[in-house]
Amino acid sequence: MSKTFVVVGGGAAGFFGAIAAKNENPACNVLLLEKSAVLLSKVRVSGGGRCNVTHACFDPMKLTQNYPRGDKALIGPFHRFQPRDTVQWFESRGVMLKTENDGRMFPVTDDSQTIIDCLLLEAQRLGVSIRLKQRIERIVKQDKGFELHFAGGETLFCDGLLLATGSSPQGHQWAQELGHSVKSSVPSLFTFNVPTSPLLDLSGITLPLVGMQLVGTTLKQQGPLLLTHWGFSGPAALKLSAWGARWLHEQNYRVQVCVDWLPQLTQEAILQQLRTLREWHPIRSLLAENPFGLPKNLWKRFLEMRGLVEKKRMSDVSNAEFIKLAEQLHGDIYQVEGRTTNKEEFVTCGGVELKEVDFRTMESRVCPGLYFAGEILDVDAVTGGFNFQNAWTTGLIAGESMAEK
Ligand SMILES: Cc1cc2nc3c(=O)[nH]c(=O)nc-3n(C[C@H](O)[C@H](O)[C@H](O)COP(=O)(O)OP(=O)(O)OC[C@H]3O[C@@H](n4cnc5c(N)ncnc54)[C@H](O)[C@@H]3O)c2cc1C
Repeated sequence: MSKTFVVVGGGAAGFFGAIAAKNENPACNVLLLEKSAVLLSKVRVSGGGRCNVTHACFDPMKLTQNYPRGDKALIGPFHRFQPRDTVQWFESRGVMLKTENDGRMFPVTDDSQTIIDCLLLEAQRLGVSIRLKQRIERIVKQDKGFELHFAGGETLFCDGLLLATGSSPQGHQWAQELGHSVKSSVPSLFTFNVPTSPLLDLSGITLPLVGMQLVGTTLKQQGPLLLTHWGFSGPAALKLSAWGARWLHEQNYRVQVCVDWLPQLTQEAILQQLRTLREWHPIRSLLAENPFGLPKNLWKRFLEMRGLVEKKRMSDVSNAEFIKLAEQLHGDIYQVEGRTTNKEEFVTCGGVELKEVDFRTMESRVCPGLYFAGEILDVDAVTGGFNFQNAWTTGLIAGESMAEK
């Protein structure tokens, strides 16, 4: 009799798992169960409706550096299925991807519906059975499989079970009932609210490279920063929120962040540059000189904050004032009071403990026949297409291994 494999969760990881299972073993029955009335809902809204499918980073070791949680566990899986394979997977099914300057990859249509259609068509072509609005109440481990108990009384036996329920608490609860430890979920990938920032009215200004550090920790990141009307956003802030996710949660998002506006220069070098400039051009104004090439309005604001705009000649600026200015440019402290969800992409950190899963197969080490893929695991990445790559890779490996077995 042909075997039955069930995938719970109709998201990116569940679809890749179900498709891979059926592809690997066409004779088996693959059933994908989704609790809601909609499939692939996160794919639809992802990347601002364009779906940032993956990232043009084709070195598995470098790729893992984008995962604050899961970096080591994913080394093996990425040697098996990495962004190059994702590109090839979609292209061989008629979906061409393009790469943006920052490495993010999108369908050339700039429409997430293209990805949804591709996954739905592929599942249909292979004969994956899909059921919506499924309310599983209990999952019971049997000798050689699992029994699923649905609301309404129906039961269903399956030989293998793939849980791909994302960050849903229900999926975590099943994992725990089946013997797993689960790290509590907290948000990752958010922007910082800084209500007292004197830069709020400069919203829209982007700096190509700043350094940011959470005061009192060694957590720091560099990258572009976007000033917003509520505080700080952009890759530097998002990366810091990802690496600091758990600590920030513990602090209730009330922390100090130190911004290094000129991370390529030391404080001493900034000071030296200011002094040299004054020596050479004593009658020019500091405002007009803008020696570090900062956005004009930001530079003006820094000088305003230090009362230096009124000083028309650089020779009027004292050494002590230069020292204060250099200190600010090198380590400017802001009080964070809360977080704002990033609309383009957000994830949670936390999930099934990685050491309890064999990443060669994505099978549970504590409950044979049970597999995990995607965000249900304690894996998450920075923004840029890496979170979907985790879903594609772990989904594919889980589906193939389950059906092989
Ligand atoms: C607004 C937004 C934009 C994003 N943009 C990007 C992006 O552009 N690029 C990127 O890489 N990442 C992006 N992400 C992150 C990415 O969407 C997730 O990492 C990814 O969707 C995880 O896939 P998954 O299949 O593990 O989980 P999900 O996509 O969350 O899918 C889980 C599925 O399981 C179902 N489910 C849950 N519980 C049950 C249950 N009890 N029974 C049955 N079904 C259940 C859910 O309804 C859902 O359909 C974005 C996230 C958000 C919120």
